[in-house]
Amino acid sequence: MIYLDHNATTPLDPRVFEAMLPYLREAWGNPSSPYRFGQEARAAVERARNRVAECLGCRPAEVLFTGGGTEADNLALRGVTRALRDRGRHVVTSAIEHPAVLRTCKALEADGVRVTWAEVSGDGVVDVAAVGRALGSDTVLLSVMHANNETGVLQPVAELAELAHARGVPFHVDAVQTAGKLPLRPAALGADLLALSAHKFHGPKGVGALFVRSGTPLHPLLTGGEHERGLRAGTENVAGIVGLAEALALAQAEAQAEAARVGALRDRLERAILAAVPGARVHGAGAPRVPNTTNLALPGVDGESVVVGLDLHGVCVSTGSACSTGDPAPSHVLTAMGVPPREAQSSVRFSLGRDTRPEDIDTVVRALAEVVARLRAVSSL
Ligand code: PLP
Repeated sequence: MIYLDHNATTPLDPRVFEAMLPYLREAWGNPSSPYRFGQEARAAVERARNRVAECLGCRPAEVLFTGGGTEADNLALRGVTRALRDRGRHVVTSAIEHPAVLRTCKALEADGVRVTWAEVSGDGVVDVAAVGRALGSDTVLLSVMHANNETGVLQPVAELAELAHARGVPFHVDAVQTAGKLPLRPAALGADLLALSAHKFHGPKGVGALFVRSGTPLHPLLTGGEHERGLRAGTENVAGIVGLAEALALAQAEAQAEAARVGALRDRLERAILAAVPGARVHGAGAPRVPNTTNLALPGVDGESVVVGLDLHGVCVSTGSACSTGDPAPSHVLTAMGVPPREAQSSVRFSLGRDTRPEDIDTVVRALAEVVARLRAVSSL
């Protein structure tokens, strides 16, 4: 198998697995128990918090563990709007967010919060001026992702942070697609809240973290115990949290070298596809992108059929967001970029990773050229 779908998920790093094992096998105590056995688990959670804080350049008390990226985004969006509901009922976000943010904003809208959806350029970059115009005296939150999961396009978050802060508006950054891929410092991005998810950087699934800058108003989503300073009730996923910290530390340490290696392979893949598939076009080619991602329109074929065709060659790719697989509507991200529906439906995302080797590129391009030629021969698109 050649796996080029690392934006969907990544394999667990064996070193992470080893770090987690003691907390599944021997030290399985409840971190809230007062006796030594429980306190061993507590110490592991706090050590993990310290490591994550060190990676992010923040204080340990600013790190909250969650049940993944979706929960971290929900906590940020629902938690801040609830905490500040006496100040205003307006949220600004972008048209290209992951469903974890997009659908949460839709739910807030249904609850009477006004939401402004900032447009993006043809290259998929959020319009900074439009965000500036949208921020008002009743705005309680700006939420924009760091890198888009479908195109890899990086967003001008530092500029957006300046705009938000000039108006006293907290800024949430969904950094699920950059954590572990690029060095990540919430302070450098100007983020007041920042979401990440372990399974995107070779950690376990179902565990994430939310950075919350000290002093940021936040209301909990869940009612229950006083875990995570009363902001995330529920017995901690000790092994998962230990795994997240280990995976983040390893990924951050290797990020720079990996970004250069994977970026070169991605560029090679792109050039080879453009040469092998007539009419192919890279989405967001003119914008800065995370180094592992490319999303291409392959005119005349259906993206879903390419995914199935490549699967028969042992190659895993995606049409974009894993969460929208099976949804026949064209991608909301490509649509927001002005891509016509047919072209959007012909698009395929390749996301490379740590296990991608140079020889994989040639194999994938050969398989893709064959699949596209076969589909074009029978297609009416
Ligand atoms: N945000 C972005 C940008 C993502 O790509 C994803 C996952 O695909 C999420 C949030 C959700 O993360 P999780 O799968 O941990 O819930």
